[in-house]
Amino acid sequence: MTERVAIVTGAAAGIGWATARKLASSGHRVALVDLDSRLAEVRAAELGPTHLGLGCDVGQEAEGSVTVQRVLERMGRIDVLVNNAGIGDPAGPTVEQSLAAFDRVLRVHLHGTFLMSRAAAPSMLAQGSGAIVNLCSIAALAGIPSRNAYGAAKAGIAAMTRSMACEWARGGLRVNAIAPGYVRTALVDDLIAKGALDAHAIERRTPMGRMARPEEIAEAIAFLASAAASFVTGAVLTADGGWSAFGAPEAALETWCEGQVIGTRPV
Ligand code: NAD
Repeated sequence: MTERVAIVTGAAAGIGWATARKLASSGHRVALVDLDSRLAEVRAAELGPTHLGLGCDVGQEAEGSVTVQRVLERMGRIDVLVNNAGIGDPAGPTVEQSLAAFDRVLRVHLHGTFLMSRAAAPSMLAQGSGAIVNLCSIAALAGIPSRNAYGAAKAGIAAMTRSMACEWARGGLRVNAIAPGYVRTALVDDLIAKGALDAHAIERRTPMGRMARPEEIAEAIAFLASAAASFVTGAVLTADGGWSAFGAPEAALETWCEGQVIGTRPV
């Protein structure tokens, strides 16, 4: 059987790096694409000689298509595209937010997902099979005060997931998204450092009482990318420790979870 090829954007760190490791361990040759080209190459070398590290800003139209072309030349095919590259938005009240910062967030998340999908789809449609997995977020499902650009970008990604899924379904190309809750990565650590997130408050508000590890999100991404999800397309799968399922006052968690230690439960 031909070895499957996966492109993972934002693969040098966090969820993307965990996903690259997971896909490599399940038999994929992985193209690790990242703004940080040096780290992408180092990570690819860590996975082994059949993997490839490439520098690319996914939000730049020309760079996305050149990157996909290079993957096709070097690896021969594309079976999976994980649109994971992302940045956090600047903290601060809406009335102080700049359009430039707003645009930067949309460019990486929304333009990046559109451009990489547009560039990779033709080869997957030509072979009659493929899977795209987009990184959405609980920020797309309910309002997070001040996180305007990020929420808008992720809601746009959910919408695009559905429209592309319907367009390409008969061509054998599935498109799904994963909506993580809070995952302990550099992106979240940075927001905590800026005072935009309170780690303890997040753990209290999460029914499972903790944030996710990147590897837990990678497992869900690998499922959506795999043949095990062969009839799943256009879905936005939450992986959020129960965050979006919870609708009671926060104190209800303490009432019903009485006696359980929040934030320190083993993964
Ligand atoms: P991270 O900051 O740990 O890693 C992001 C990676 O993307 C970095 O290696 C960075 O260099 C790369 N990157 C940034 N801009 C890029 C660009 N323009 N082109 C190519 N690469 C670029 O982030 P993470 O927490 O692992 O997040 C990964 C994805 O998951 C993002 O889309 C994020 O919005 C989403 N997400 C994260 C969380 C969370 O709690 N961490 C929750 C929900 C969704």
